[in-house]
Amino acid sequence: MKNVARLLVTLVILLSCQQPTAERTIVASTSIIGDWVSNIAGTDWKVVTLVGRDGDAHTYEPSPADVQTLAQASLIVLNGAGLEHVWLHPILESSKTQAPILELAEHTQLIKSEHHHEEEIEGQDPYEEGEEHEEGEEHHHGEFDPHVWLSPRRVRDMVTAIMNQLISLDPANEQAYRQRTAAYHQKLEELDREITSKLAVIPKERRKLVLLHQAFGYFALDYDFEQTASVLRSLTTQTRDPSAADVARLVDLLKKEKIPAIFDENIAKNPVSAAIARDAKVKLAPPLYTDALGQPGTPGETYLGMMRHNANVILEALRP
Ligand SMILES: [Zn+2]
Repeated sequence: MKNVARLLVTLVILLSCQQPTAERTIVASTSIIGDWVSNIAGTDWKVVTLVGRDGDAHTYEPSPADVQTLAQASLIVLNGAGLEHVWLHPILESSKTQAPILELAEHTQLIKSEHHHEEEIEGQDPYEEGEEHEEGEEHHHGEFDPHVWLSPRRVRDMVTAIMNQLISLDPANEQAYRQRTAAYHQKLEELDREITSKLAVIPKERRKLVLLHQAFGYFALDYDFEQTASVLRSLTTQTRDPSAADVARLVDLLKKEKIPAIFDENIAKNPVSAAIARDAKVKLAPPLYTDALGQPGTPGETYLGMMRHNANVILEALRP
């Protein structure tokens, strides 16, 4: 009897310990979104990230623990625009979560993968687009580019959306959420000015970005660069390696366009980039932080840090 009583007491303690976290957990799909959420939510909430630092959100393989994490969430924040859909949709279903889901891409301007200068479309859901694809048409043509976070100018509205969601869940702390958001908006504006002025020394003919995948569309549009090509020729890393013919075409293009450098990425190292750089006799620049933060203690520890680092790497690689 004594043992049963002790067991019951232990059980009650365990349950009461677990409940507060279970009630106050925000799940973010990526480390970058997790960083924004932590900045706005403050320390009252526990923030859990699914795809970790240096992780690839295109090819992520969720674990059974992720289903559990989603089941206990009070709020789920994801990027949307096709970034996580493939792996996230099934685990959202099986978690049977009742938590609100905030899709940040719905709160900013999205561009399509190609022709992005002509087609600015606000907050449309790519899954409801229902656009007809003709047989043999380039697979990624006309898809929305999910990489909105890589232009700090577009992050402002996404951070505001996080604030509004938190206020609706926890109106008692509205003031605190508003203050933290205002402070973060200011940091984003400083970052934006810093990137613009730092990169101003790069002349127009050298403002050309070539990465492993096409992650820098929004950055290019907002900071007056051209995303000339990408090694994988794709908006996602979940694609086959380029064929020998693709590589040869890219090498020719790099020479013809006088591309100064190609950039590695923190989320996916592919030896093809180095081989292409060698063949085209262009610099292989250090990795840019693309779809994830870097490890603690690196420049990419925070979103603001990773974007400053990216600007420095671009400056060093492309300055005359
Ligand atoms: Zn990506």
